[in-house]
Amino acid sequence: MKDIMAGILYKSMNRRSFIKTGLAGIGTLVAIGAGCSPGLYKNGRKATRWAFLSDTHIPADVNNNYRGFYPCQNLQEVVPGINSNSPDGVVITGDLARLTGELGDYANLKKLLNPIARERPAFMALGNHDNRANFVKVFDKVPGEKQPVRNKLVTVIERPPVRLVILDSLLYVNKVPGLLGKAQRQWLQDYLEQCDDTPTIICFHHTLKDGDGDLLDVPRLFSIIKPVRKVKAIVYGHSHAYGFSQFEGIHLINLPAVGYNFNDAEPVGWVEANMTAGGADFMLHAIAGNKSGDKSVKKLTWRR
Ligand SMILES: [Zn+2]
Repeated sequence: MKDIMAGILYKSMNRRSFIKTGLAGIGTLVAIGAGCSPGLYKNGRKATRWAFLSDTHIPADVNNNYRGFYPCQNLQEVVPGINSNSPDGVVITGDLARLTGELGDYANLKKLLNPIARERPAFMALGNHDNRANFVKVFDKVPGEKQPVRNKLVTVIERPPVRLVILDSLLYVNKVPGLLGKAQRQWLQDYLEQCDDTPTIICFHHTLKDGDGDLLDVPRLFSIIKPVRKVKAIVYGHSHAYGFSQFEGIHLINLPAVGYNFNDAEPVGWVEANMTAGGADFMLHAIAGNKSGDKSVKKLTWRR
């Protein structure tokens, strides 16, 4: 699996391409059908482990710093810990780039992620400091031609016992608010109607409050997912603050930033998630900022 999935995978991994890729060398896995079938395959695993990162804010200039934090150094520092943790994959929920999503930002990001990408897939969502066109230019192995949503980068990751859906909330480069938009919301609604009941985790960049700098279509998103019981959690970033809350039993997990915090009370680091069909354990790996919660574990139970 590692070999097959090696390399930065950012793509709208449609089901046909996933099956093609996935079956190329996964002898023990059994495809049980096309479409949104139960997990695409059953691998018999009870858990899947992921490294969740957010707000890497990688600059083109490695000496760029903010509040005394050097985003390039921070990412470099977390990479060995992630690899030694041997997760099934990595998800970075946006604000990959420093401010405006320059080509040089992504070139650095690619270089810094390479030790991870050689071992396991790294999936990325775009944030308000990203530039979609530049991102796709640098992460050129991205088979972006098969995106199911117009002008958005959407990925579905089937990893029984859970499924991750990576959405794209980038609205305007270097302006704070985000938007999924009607086409993406419609896609999500249709997708969720068709797919099986595998516990589904939605990941994107923006926060879920009602401010002018949050995800502007949060109420519409919530109205779509509220009745869909298979949606268990949303994982997001943007605030550079670590926290857990809920909406209608859906867990809302706000990841800390890798690049820098906005205040000293917040950790800087990444979060390890062990996910099962029944819930997940999230463990904070704090490398800077407020490290008092380092290695603390939050246990979540999925709604039924
Ligand atoms: Zn942001």
